[in-house]
Amino acid sequence: MLTIEWSLASGWEKPYIKPLENLSLHPASSALHYAIELFEGMKAYRGVDGKIRLFRPTLNMDRMARSARRTTLPPSLGVKKPTKALLYVILSPVGSYFASGSFNPISLWADPKYVRAWKGGTGDCKLGGNYGSAIYAQQEALEFGCQQVLWLYGEDHQITEVGTMNLFLYWINEDGENELATPPLDGIILPGVTRQSILDLALNWGEFKVSERYITMSDLTAALEESRVKEMFGAGTACIVCPISKILYKGKHLHIPTMENGPELTTRFLNKLSDIQYGREDSDWTVLVS
Ligand SMILES: *Cc1c(COP(=O)(O)O)cnc(C)c1O
Repeated sequence: MLTIEWSLASGWEKPYIKPLENLSLHPASSALHYAIELFEGMKAYRGVDGKIRLFRPTLNMDRMARSARRTTLPPSLGVKKPTKALLYVILSPVGSYFASGSFNPISLWADPKYVRAWKGGTGDCKLGGNYGSAIYAQQEALEFGCQQVLWLYGEDHQITEVGTMNLFLYWINEDGENELATPPLDGIILPGVTRQSILDLALNWGEFKVSERYITMSDLTAALEESRVKEMFGAGTACIVCPISKILYKGKHLHIPTMENGPELTTRFLNKLSDIQYGREDSDWTVLVS
């Protein structure tokens, strides 16, 4: 096998031809070449009582099974259906978001020239290919001084997800109702465990309208002009919730008043979910690890 290593510090090293090492993942693996690969992201929380809890792990396992079904569909391109698989579980300490004491809002870059996912694609599965292809846009967001990409979709610039988080908008909708809105699971949205949990909590509270609905950039800009936007936030296992303060769209900086509004609802979800995850509140959403 010809092997040439590369690093940022020294660039390309000398090429070597040497026998294939006994690697557990073969370099010709279809996981590397065709991204026949999937992953999951789940945390274990050490609670205030010292016990370790998983948060709704069956939702992750169900999603993993759906991703696996999608990757092993009858293949095209002469790529054969896999006959072997390798499962890695990487355990790494991540610390708690609270420990860092920060609840800093993020700025987003929205440009329809890049698309994260499309109808008939794999955006609703946690497949590696969805993420590697998003890095280029993320880099461009940083060049524009923004922290993450706001992924748009379609001619009407629907807002779909933010970076690798689901997106929520808490606003006064077109009919004058208080509404918590997130895009529907129509194939281009990753069904997040945090997204589902936020919807479940809000429906249970019953204090405002909860909708899985389309939201376009023009819906958002109209609402901003009419001061109907309360809070906007991303949601995912890594940060639980992440407030959004700015969107750069068509060369204009749109100010999102999330922080000015508390952010009351975003903080309430953060507190409620972390109370459950860290065992401050009993819930059948957690599973104890013995
Ligand atoms: C993992 C992921 C999420 C969040 O899912 P959680 O289960 O809440 O962690 C949202 N969007 C994308 C694109 C993701 O990959």
